[in-house]
Formats: sequence, structure tokens, C-alpha cells
Amino acid sequence: MPALQWLNLKPLTGRAATAQNQTTMDFCNALKTLLGENAVLTTPEDRASFERDWRGLSQYPAVAVALPKTPEQVSEIIKLCAAEKIAIVPQGGNTGLVAGGVPIANTPQLILSLNRMNAIRSLDLAADCLVAEAGVPLATVQQAAKDADRLFPVSFAADGSAQIGGVISTNAGGVQVLSYGNMRAQVLGLEVVLADGSIWHGLNALPKDNTGYDLKQLFIGAEGTLGIITAACLRLHPAPRARATALVGTSSAADAMALFQSMRRIAGPALTLCEFMTAEALALGGRAPFEAPAYLLLEISALEEDATPQALIERVLEAALEDGTALDAVIAQSERERDALIAMREAIPEGELHAGGAVKHDISVPLGRMAEMVVATEALIAKTYPGCRLNIFGHLGDGNLHINVRPPEGDALSSLNKAEITTNVESLAVSLGGSFSAEHGIGQFRLAGMAAHKSPEALALMRRLKTAFDPTGLFNPGKTIPESPND
Ligand SMILES: Cc1cc2nc3c(=O)[nH]c(=O)nc-3n(C[C@H](O)[C@H](O)[C@H](O)COP(=O)(O)OP(=O)(O)OC[C@H]3O[C@@H](n4cnc5c(N)ncnc54)[C@H](O)[C@@H]3O)c2cc1C
Repeated sequence: MPALQWLNLKPLTGRAATAQNQTTMDFCNALKTLLGENAVLTTPEDRASFERDWRGLSQYPAVAVALPKTPEQVSEIIKLCAAEKIAIVPQGGNTGLVAGGVPIANTPQLILSLNRMNAIRSLDLAADCLVAEAGVPLATVQQAAKDADRLFPVSFAADGSAQIGGVISTNAGGVQVLSYGNMRAQVLGLEVVLADGSIWHGLNALPKDNTGYDLKQLFIGAEGTLGIITAACLRLHPAPRARATALVGTSSAADAMALFQSMRRIAGPALTLCEFMTAEALALGGRAPFEAPAYLLLEISALEEDATPQALIERVLEAALEDGTALDAVIAQSERERDALIAMREAIPEGELHAGGAVKHDISVPLGRMAEMVVATEALIAKTYPGCRLNIFGHLGDGNLHINVRPPEGDALSSLNKAEITTNVESLAVSLGGSFSAEHGIGQFRLAGMAAHKSPEALALMRRLKTAFDPTGLFNPGKTIPESPND
């Protein structure tokens, strides 16, 4: 890792502590002069919700929370932090699931919240793109696209709170990746403030630009470790004119997979959504209209006014009901019914949290091994952690499952050996040719997986990139790249 040696990792006492408090006050006053009194939060009460991650599993103090309005202010903050040896934790909507956007322990850090950089700067319908500042909520971009008769396809349960900068920094996926790709596929250009305070104006709107390294790609999915994204040029897609949505019951993951493949064969990229949920998972999101061991939520979208996706979905489902691949099915008859089906799927993570939480995983495996992964996980948990309840759901068409292990009924989450469970589940996915982190990123919670499964060559390259972009380790220390055994 790059040098963090200037960060004081030992708690101070006596005169040294008094001097540190004075330095902190001076730093906060300098920030207030720069940004205005209301744009710097210093009290523990004001900082608390920024310091705590979405699941409430990580909470360490920051020196302050800064809320800049412009890239120039971000640049000045970076220079001030570098001078005062205070690290920077960039934060968007703070909905990340791996504690990437909150402070780590024993390190002076400033949370740099992009909340106030929330303007859509421009909309270019000739080029089918818009430029949004980093703090614009994902749902606002979706709505702006809709108002312009376009589609912005990245969508997931936290889209009212997650912000463009955070969604890019985690390269988030969501429910329509199988047709439109993840966030990386939507980014045409970026504006980024770098570790020396300079601003990289990379906001071009060109689908083609082979002028050397594609620098924007390095910041996408970098979880705030290489620079602060302040704005992005995002690709817009034609709005669908018709769609059909169905909830289908199946008896197993293998049948769900078979059904997905039939749908995909017939609908191709028009199959825009294919979500898998076990009965236990769906029960956390709401009451299913019928009972089945597992469910698929499917959606076919069409760009033509006269298309009949409903007829297509009915045709495939009739065949599946006949051959037994499907046990039961409902097709939404209105937008309201469609929204209710989607809402039930999207309510699963929050339902799980309210039910006491789980040891969460975000694995992917090759499509041909999805059913095997589900069966092997069920066997692993039944044998090694008897009584534990599984909540398995995810983006079947992307080979991505959230395999969440809940404690036995009546037991607390803290009773589980989280590290051991995670090692077992992630190793299983990797042994099937998969990944231990499909779409949520690494943050703090997946560092052990990085150390265990990422090759030494890949880690060495990542460390060299980090050092090149951020030589003093100013940005988001303790995230994404595990410490080198030589540090
Ligand atoms: C209910 C729920 C459902 C979810 N479903 C999905 C899903 O289906 N698919 C999926 O992929 N993800 C999903 N997620 C997780 C998803 O990764 C995040 O919600 C989202 O992408 C993060 O956006 P955010 O603005 O909240 O970022 P934050 O949580 O604030 O930050 C995430 C990371 O990005 C960095 N960061 C934030 N802003 C910037 C910036 N401007 N510049 C540089 N770095 C920055 C942070 O330091 C941190 O490392 C879900 C989360 C929740 C709570």
C-alpha cells in the first residue's frame, strides 16, 4: 500500500491531545472559510449518519463532514487535507453494502459528501446523453431520462438514495444488467479531482475515442481510492414502448435456469430482467401471490409501439407450465401490478435487515454452474451451520447471487462465525470458476476475499496504480486493496 505513515495511528494523550484538538479546530475553521459554515458538519450528532454504514455494522469517527458545491471546492479540500495529513473518504448516498464510503478506525479522516453537487448540468438528445454531477440520486437520472422519452437502465432497490458518483465508483449492476450492462457500460466521460488537487476534465460524450489509455475506466469501480468523481456524462437508451412482467414459480434453481434459457433464446436482449428468489427470500420482501420453492421475476421489453411482449411471455410460460419447468405464474395486467411485483423483489434487502440481518455475500459463477452453486450452498449450510436460514436471491441472468446466511430462529446475528461462513461461501463460488464479489465492490468487508482469491500479480498491479494516482494514500485508506504482507 502507498505510504500512510504520515497518518497518526496511535491515540494521543495529554499535551499532544490538546495540540491535536487545536489542529482539528483550525482545520475545521479553514474548511468553513472555504465552504461556508453550514457546509461543514463537526458535531458527533451531525456526523453520525455519515459515519455509519447502511447496515449499521461499521461506525468510526471522522474529523468532520464536508459538503462542497463545486469541483473547485473539492480541489481546495484535497489540498487542505494533504497539507494537514487528513485522509478523505468520498461518500455518495451511503447505501454501499461493503462499508466503502465510511471511515476506518484510528485514522484522521474527512468525509467528503457529494450531496450538494446535485445538478443535472446538461441533456443532449442528439447524442443521447446527459451530464450529471456526482451527487445526483440515481432515481433523478432515471426520471430525467424518462422525461426526455429515454431510458437510463441502471436500477436497483436503493436508487432513491444512491448517487451517480457512488454508483460509478462501485460499478453497480442491478436488475437490468443482462440487457444493458452495468454502470461501466453507461459512462461516456468523467470529471475527476485528483490527489494533487488538479481537475481532470474528461467529460466527453464520444462513444468512440481510442486516444491511448481509457482513463475513465480506472475510476469506475475504484471505490474512491484513486480520485473524487465530480460529474459524469451518461449514455441514454431508447425508452421501451411496451413490456410484460411475470412472476413464475419453479421447483428448483435448475428449473429456474432452464426457464431463463428458454426466455433468453426467444426474446434475446428484449429479456431485460430475470431475478431469482427462493421462497425464503421472497417472504422477506412481501407475500407471494402463490406458493413455490423458488421464483423467477421476468420482464420482456419492446421498443416498437406495436410489439406484443405479453404474447411472447405467455407463449414461453404456457410451454413451461406444460413441461413442468414452471409450477405457476402471474403476469402483471397493469403498471401498478408490475410495480408491485418489482417492489416485492426490491424489498428483500430491507426486509432482511429488519428481520435481524444476515452474513451477506455477493458471488457470481458461470451461468452453467448457477444451479450447482445453489444446491452446494444449501448442502454446505445444512451440514456446517445447522439451523441457519438461507436467503438466496439475485440476478440469475448475470450469474450473480446474493447468498445471505441468517442465524437460527431466535438467535442473534452476532452468534454466527461470520468470517468462517464467508470464507466457505466465497471459496465455494471461486471453486466453481466464479467471483467472491460480483457487483457490490470490496470496501472494508471484502478485503479478506481479495487477499485470499485475487492473484498476487493483480494485487501488485493494483498497488502500483494506487501509488501512481495517490502517492501519499490520501483517498479512502483501508478500502479495496488489502495491505501487502510486506507493509
Ligand atoms: C437496498 C439495497 C439494494 C442494493 N442493490 C444493489 C444491486 O442490485 N446491484 C448493485 O450493484 N448494488 C446494489 N446495492 C449496493 C450499491 O453498490 C450501492 O447502493 C450504490 O452503488 C452505492 O451508491 P452510493 O451513492 O450510496 O455510494 P456510497 O455508499 O456512498 O459509496 C460507495 C463507494 O463509492 C465511493 N464514492 C462515493 N461517491 C464517490 C465519488 N463521487 N467519487 C469517488 N468515490 C465515491 C465511496 O467512497 C465508497 O467506496 C444495493 C444497496 C442497497 C442498500
